[in-house]
Amino acid sequence: MLDCIFCKIINKELKADIVYEDQDFVVFKDIKPKAETHLLIVPKKHIESLNALEDIDLAGKMLLLAKKMIKNQNYKIQINTGKKAGQIIDHLHLHLLSGKMF
Ligand code: 5GP
Ligand code: ZN
Repeated sequence: MLDCIFCKIINKELKADIVYEDQDFVVFKDIKPKAETHLLIVPKKHIESLNALEDIDLAGKMLLLAKKMIKNQNYKIQINTGKKAGQIIDHLHLHLLSGKMF
């Protein structure tokens, strides 16, 4: 997707601190962390938001991957959906927050 920051990170056109990658997802550190650990779980496919997600398999994998990414068993998951709910990047992503919250 042209002009999508997250697609550019996925395609390695933009730098990010990538901590995990497989055929379906990349996981990288949020550039403005709101917690000690703040990761973004991002499907490689450009899906605009959770509202546009139909793929149950991908949805399930995204949640299981979030769980797998964190050793600490205390964490928060957030998916901002829609501009009014604070979604800035129009490429589906799950915020994974753990440790001290800022
Ligand atoms: P949203 O508000 O859309 O749910 O969250 C977007 C998140 O992406 C924000 O927490 C923001 O800090 C992060 N972000 C925006 N641009 C970049 C970037 O270029 N690199 C990284 N690593 N994170 C970004
Ligand atoms: Zn995208």
